[in-house]
Amino acid sequence: EAKKQEGNSFAFYDEAHTVKMNRAFNVKTALQQADFDRDFALHYQPVIDVQTGHVVGAEALLRFSHATLGRVSPGEFIPIAENNGLILSIGEWVLRRACRDIGPLIEMMSDRFKLAVNVSIQQLESRTFPFALKAILEETQFPQDRLVLEVTEETSVSHSERVKETINQIKSYGVDISIDDFGTGYSSLEKLHHLKVDQLKIDQSFIRELDETTAIVRAILAMGESLGLSIVAEGVETKDQLDFLKTTTCDYVQGYYFSRPLTFKDFQSFLSNKT
Ligand code: C2E
Ligand code: MG
Ligand code: MG
Ligand code: MG
Repeated sequence: EAKKQEGNSFAFYDEAHTVKMNRAFNVKTALQQADFDRDFALHYQPVIDVQTGHVVGAEALLRFSHATLGRVSPGEFIPIAENNGLILSIGEWVLRRACRDIGPLIEMMSDRFKLAVNVSIQQLESRTFPFALKAILEETQFPQDRLVLEVTEETSVSHSERVKETINQIKSYGVDISIDDFGTGYSSLEKLHHLKVDQLKIDQSFIRELDETTAIVRAILAMGESLGLSIVAEGVETKDQLDFLKTTTCDYVQGYYFSRPLTFKDFQSFLSNKT
């Protein structure tokens, strides 16, 4: 009887696995056939100065909407795009779109305002990425020193020499590097120092359970401070979380408490209501 049940649960696992593979295949096909300008959109989430409450930046977040699959979340389609090399062309589209959208607004914003764009490790491993980035900055006339590229902690500590070279080249343009989802990976002080990053973004899991993670958050803040990095707290949803962060050296906050990621149009309205 027990044997039989085991067999059944294995068959069940197998079926679930097949469903998952089919879904991944469908998403991959949808991405391959996508008309980027029609099916992709960038939403923008404001980045706020903890102490003054001023908007000091925006993070571009990619949205994908497909005729039959409907909306697919980046949590699902980004890893699939990363597995298929598709992330390279998608990543260039994201950079160009973001620079075109935000470029014209930059002059009206405070001189601290920065645009943050997420990049995947495959982009940093590509020899052509720095040239593509440079071309996009020139074509859109986007001021280099107002761009921040966010790389996950995992990416940044991968020992690849290529990634290190790419990061150095990008930094030589005046573009900043931020370590996203910080605290979930295994970076050491030494590696962070070596990579010469500019910013850490504390992973939202630590902000969500601040009661249990206060010590960790304080340790990250102290580490950032000692390395001279700016610190962003992600996933701030409540006033209590903000009030705590106000008592620390955290520089910037992002989260639903201030705003969800907005369409470009709504982001523009958000800015004009603020000023
Ligand atoms: P991320 O870069 O860490 O972005 C933060 C995620 O948290 C976003 O999810 C954002 O919508 C969500 N978020 C913001 N504030 C809150 C909050 O207060 N509470 C909660 N629960 N969530 C909040 P999203 O847009 O679904 O993106 C997920 C991930 O997909 C991103 O995480 C990033 O790693 C990746 N991604 C998104 N756009 C791009 C892109 O253009 N290129 C690449 N390579 N990755 C991207
Ligand atoms: Mg990010
Ligand atoms: Mg993050
Ligand atoms: Mg600081």
